[in-house]
Amino acid sequence: MVTTHNLGFPRIGKKRELKFALENYWKKVISKETLQEIAANLRRAHWQDQSKLDLVPVGDFSMYDQVLDTSFMLGHIPARVSELPGDELDSYFRVARGRSLSDDPTCSCVSAGEMTKWFDTNYHYIVPEFEQNTRFSLNANRLLQQIEEAKQQGIQVKPVILGPASYLWLGKSKDGSDKLNLLDDLVNVYAQLLHELKNAGIQWVQMDEPVLVMELSQEWQHALRKTYFQLQATPVNLLVATYFGQLQGNLQLACELPVNGLHLDAITAKDEVAKVIDWLPCHKVLSLGIINGRNIWKTNLAETLDWLEPIYSRLQDRLWLAPSCSLLHVPVDLNSEQQLDRDIQSWLAFAVQKLDELDTLAKALSQGRDAVTEELLENAVAVTNRKQSSQVHDESVKRRVLEINNAMGIRHSPYQQRAVIQREKFNLPLYPTTTIGSFPQTREIRQARQDFRTGKLSAAQYHLAMQQEIKTCVREQEALGLDVLVHGEPERNDMVEYFGEQLTGYAFTQFGWVQSYGSRCVKPPIIYGDISRPQAMTVDWIQYAQSLTDKPMKGMLTGPVTMLNWSFVRDDQPRAETCMQLALAIGDEVLALEKAGIGIIQIDEAALREGLPLRKTQWKSYLQWAIRAFQIAANGVKDETQIHTHMCYSEFNDIIEAIAGMDADVITIETSRSDMELLDVFDQFHYPNEIGPGVYDIHSPNIPSIDSMIDLMKKAAQRIPAQRLWVNPDCGLKTRSWDEVKPALSNMIAASKRLSGHLSSTAVD
Ligand code: GLN
Ligand code: ZN
Repeated sequence: MVTTHNLGFPRIGKKRELKFALENYWKKVISKETLQEIAANLRRAHWQDQSKLDLVPVGDFSMYDQVLDTSFMLGHIPARVSELPGDELDSYFRVARGRSLSDDPTCSCVSAGEMTKWFDTNYHYIVPEFEQNTRFSLNANRLLQQIEEAKQQGIQVKPVILGPASYLWLGKSKDGSDKLNLLDDLVNVYAQLLHELKNAGIQWVQMDEPVLVMELSQEWQHALRKTYFQLQATPVNLLVATYFGQLQGNLQLACELPVNGLHLDAITAKDEVAKVIDWLPCHKVLSLGIINGRNIWKTNLAETLDWLEPIYSRLQDRLWLAPSCSLLHVPVDLNSEQQLDRDIQSWLAFAVQKLDELDTLAKALSQGRDAVTEELLENAVAVTNRKQSSQVHDESVKRRVLEINNAMGIRHSPYQQRAVIQREKFNLPLYPTTTIGSFPQTREIRQARQDFRTGKLSAAQYHLAMQQEIKTCVREQEALGLDVLVHGEPERNDMVEYFGEQLTGYAFTQFGWVQSYGSRCVKPPIIYGDISRPQAMTVDWIQYAQSLTDKPMKGMLTGPVTMLNWSFVRDDQPRAETCMQLALAIGDEVLALEKAGIGIIQIDEAALREGLPLRKTQWKSYLQWAIRAFQIAANGVKDETQIHTHMCYSEFNDIIEAIAGMDADVITIETSRSDMELLDVFDQFHYPNEIGPGVYDIHSPNIPSIDSMIDLMKKAAQRIPAQRLWVNPDCGLKTRSWDEVKPALSNMIAASKRLSGHLSSTAVD
């Protein structure tokens, strides 16, 4: 018999029930008891959805974040929070978001824990904070209660725990001490935990050690070995789970850990399965993650079975089957969708459907394919239909990608020559000012969009309302005295969705939400087919905005790499190829804007950096095609057209050469929060083009002072000649209010004026 299990289930709920419960609790609309009750009901529903499995994960549910749950379970709570009044949940939300309730009287004195991306996913966890004197102590109540809860519901429980090595790895040393010094104390607490689990009647525990797919130093490899040798005497069976990538140099280590089983992501590490089978001692279970937990396509069941059957005959009962990773990263239930194209819907599988696939595969192995004839047939029909669908394949798009040649994506003249032409054309002052694109998305704008969607506003009325918003935005910018204006993006709900809706090959769900952090979810669009641009997407809006002013109006587009990285992508062709299709479509829009007389065009690549592979050895090939895609989209313009790009992250030291290779005339980046530290990279690397280091932190409601912005720009001017500097905010202003934006921009412009005045007067001297 094959054992089936799951690594984790989405906790947000089919209709985002957890999100709404949390937000209502924080606003004091519901009580703590009601919140707990909703959470318990969600757990019950999710366990029910997984009840066909042989082992069901428990402990994967979280009120905010599973890493933060682990910190609390290990008695590892920042001192700034543990001294405050209230119960555990109050402390928990204070670390998570700086306050327990929205009007938490203590909130002015706690800072929330730092948040960062969970490996290469779009999920964000709360970073554990370590110091030399950090000590751990077990607090397993939450987990034990949930185990009890599940048992009472007749669930076959398998607790899921983040393993000690990964927990340490994911945290941050606050005082520069070596985190690994904490390992012994930490492992002791884990040993106690495993004893408690044994006493609770548990047989198998899943220990997540995703660090095993990272490039590990000898110290970290040793830490893993030591951890599991110390836990060897524990009375429960341990399944060490790895996911998101290949084991590579850690393969032997992973196979030889003294535990009872290993889970391997057989989607990303399929090539390693044979080797792992050879290395794995024959008393150990091998769990294969054969259903993609990161994407939304149906598994090709027949193909998977062809591959699995020989493995099963070799491993027999030692073979377990699961999704590749926790299903946290996919939407919950495809059956919630009412408006998807029928064909497209038949090609998809969300969390619930993925578990059905798992069940079918296990039955086919254990009982033979005849036991699941109908399921296999249905799957084969969907898979074939997708392969042959005219909705997916557009020969003319494929041909265009094939016709991409080396000359494409290269500007006619080098930056130095373009800069001269552009300076003459735009006649901008020194330290020119601009913004990143969006202006406040007010209640009125959102209301108008909703009224349009529900039919209260006609298309013509909506169009007029948006034009009105653009006009207000242009007038405000003129009054403030900005040099390069934007239209403000009122017509855009989201920077990817807005373009995806106008391109072929994109589908949108109603309920395809995936947790990003805490109560926040994103609904990534689905790229299912070849991408083309049937008509212009932004030209009317930008042209209208330009008609209102004599100042240059910057056209605003989302770049191909960001369109790709923030969508669910096709699995039937390489990502690079999909990205090139996007690049050609965006490139057409760039040329259309240029033709319509728009002289400055910004192509946002907010998500370029986050697409970097987990292992550095794979960076080069990603950057090669990603940068190439940007070039193809952006660089077909004339010398006099000024291309801007924007990236909202502050760590790009290690990819600066690739970014320079994009050859944008101007790049605007986030810097204000790091006090321009990020610009240190320019001490070593001579960045050739223009840069706008963000001086206004748009994530904060604070209004930056003129002096603070001058200071920041002076720091920038120490590394980059003033002639190549721009003054702008860190990112788009859509989440801020006009009350904040106006004084902040007014200060920003004053700072620019003082700087350029100072510079031109010294120049005269
Ligand atoms: N142009 C976009 C805006 O201003 C850029 C957003 C982003 O970088 N995330 O909103
Ligand atoms: Zn940004």
